[in-house]
Amino acid sequence: MFRAKLVAAIVGAIASVTLVGTPTAAATGEAQPSAVRTIYYDSSRAAELAPLVDQAAQIWNAGVTSVKLVKGAGGISASTAQNGAAPGMASCVGCTRGTITFYRNQIRSSGAAPLRVVVHEFGHILGLNHPQDIGNCDKVMAGGRCDNAQPNAQELAAVQRFWASRGLAPAPGAQPDESTVFDAPASAGV
Ligand SMILES: [Zn+2]
Repeated sequence: MFRAKLVAAIVGAIASVTLVGTPTAAATGEAQPSAVRTIYYDSSRAAELAPLVDQAAQIWNAGVTSVKLVKGAGGISASTAQNGAAPGMASCVGCTRGTITFYRNQIRSSGAAPLRVVVHEFGHILGLNHPQDIGNCDKVMAGGRCDNAQPNAQELAAVQRFWASRGLAPAPGAQPDESTVFDAPASAGV
């Protein structure tokens, strides 16, 4: 029957889409340095910051080609909570699975733009640590009481290199210490 064929065709199409999205090469453990890595992020628990999470993903996606942040489950879970020790916390550096938590009290008191905080935490997920010049507003990873949410060319290049060289086997780093980064006074770019 035509109807049965149509259903079969739709089911087949869904199955093939699912297969395309499955990282089959990961199972073999073979590194594919040229492959674009996909990091899924879930903003469903980020509350009022959810639009900024999407915006931060777009900012990073616009600047690098070796890795792509895509909305979906099973990767980085972003959530927003009331009180914490820093505006944001990322559970790992250079990782495809983990958590980011934002804290309203600290975002309010830090003086940093909320979007800058969100872009900064994704920067950790994408492999970046804090630079020496904390408070340099040109760098999103430098924290500080700054408004700028656009990573500079150096930061984008570092993310690009990290994922291009790691291929399918990133080596996640430890949780960064966020306790004082955004309290630092803003400094002029160098
Ligand atoms: Zn940080």
